[in-house]
Amino acid sequence: MGLALGLDFGTSALKAAVIDPQGQCQYHDRIPFRNPTSPVLWEVAVWQLFGQIPRSIINNIHHIGIAGTSGTVLLTDGQGQPIAPTLMYNDNRAGFLLPELKHYVPANHLVLSATSSLIKLFWYQDQGIDLQDKYLLHQVDWLGFLLHGKLGISDEHNSLKLGYDPGINNYPDWFAGLPFAVNYPQVFIPGTPVGTIQPRLAQEFHLPTTCQIHAGTTDSMAAFIASGADQIGDGVTSLGSTLVLKLLSQHRIDDQATGVYSHRLGNLWLVGGASNTGGAVLNHFFSEEELLNFSAQIDPDIVLDLDYYPLLRPGERFPIHDPNLLPRLTPRPDNPVHFLQALLTAMAHIEAQGYQVLKNLGAPKLQRVFTSGGGSGNQTWQTIRQRILGVPVLVSAQQEAAWGVARLAQGDGL
Ligand code: ADP
Repeated sequence: MGLALGLDFGTSALKAAVIDPQGQCQYHDRIPFRNPTSPVLWEVAVWQLFGQIPRSIINNIHHIGIAGTSGTVLLTDGQGQPIAPTLMYNDNRAGFLLPELKHYVPANHLVLSATSSLIKLFWYQDQGIDLQDKYLLHQVDWLGFLLHGKLGISDEHNSLKLGYDPGINNYPDWFAGLPFAVNYPQVFIPGTPVGTIQPRLAQEFHLPTTCQIHAGTTDSMAAFIASGADQIGDGVTSLGSTLVLKLLSQHRIDDQATGVYSHRLGNLWLVGGASNTGGAVLNHFFSEEELLNFSAQIDPDIVLDLDYYPLLRPGERFPIHDPNLLPRLTPRPDNPVHFLQALLTAMAHIEAQGYQVLKNLGAPKLQRVFTSGGGSGNQTWQTIRQRILGVPVLVSAQQEAAWGVARLAQGDGL
């Protein structure tokens, strides 16, 4: 079976992991890039990485998978040359086109958002770009094209924000009414083989000529695969800048009001929601060192609930849908250890409420939670969360999305 290489494109760096068939990491690397919107710099990072992987390892890489930020898109000509600015996943410049989009898209569809991939296509058209015979590609699609040379290929996970419907394995009928003659990607199930590495690349970088490039995924799905969660009712909470929940379910659930949507993973669905609370609020009040020191001083068995709702600015989407929801951060104790404890407790309540909202929408009851992201190493928080969630709270087996997408390329997504 040989080794598998996972590439994870973030906003500031390409992270790579090479794993063996048992999932053991044989090599990892990180190549920073200065500008997250430059396809040229993504490309340079890949060639730099290939040049750095020791010969004994790269000789034996038989599978490559790619994960990227979901919703980052670019437009190319028929040769795969980018012809318009890359629009990042969180770029909302197209928001003013929402009323126009509503003429074509059914109410409550998840693409009716200022950052969806589909609205970005409307923006390209609004800029006067002729879309005839052009290719709309996600970041991952374009990088895959560089490796296997086939233009216009994507995966179900990246294509969800474009409007692709994994329930029918196709674009919905209303796509026929959209006002462009652009080439939409042909969509593959994540992890399926798409094609072998281009011969000139195999030769230049000493890769096997049979090395397969597999359909990719998004960075958050790759992180889920890395977590070790694999049972219905398993949740994965990402404690990063924001609080993101995902839950394995036998049903697909979409709820536009709260931003809840589902990705297919094997025969199951991964239902997700994201709150605006999270580590960014902690960073606002504490340094990293204070977070470590004060957390160690908290007695997690003493309940300290000050009924906070920690936000940096008004507005919440999930688990409460209220664009005007005000942060609640008072009363503030004099002792910073108590203040931190109240914040961590409040976020654990929001997490529990989030899983409850998913259940109310039809998802299974939470059975256990894996944890990823910067807050996952905080054991005090883990104890507090376990008390409030009432289920076992574990740390993800692997934290790296690059590991998850390498596993997917090996054919072991779930
Ligand atoms: P993202 O990729 O979403 O920006 P990361 O997964 O890198 O975020 O996590 C960064 C977050 O982790 C920061 O916002 C920080 O508040 C939080 N964090 C870091 N260390 C701790 C800690 N010891 N306890 C709680 N949270 C922490």
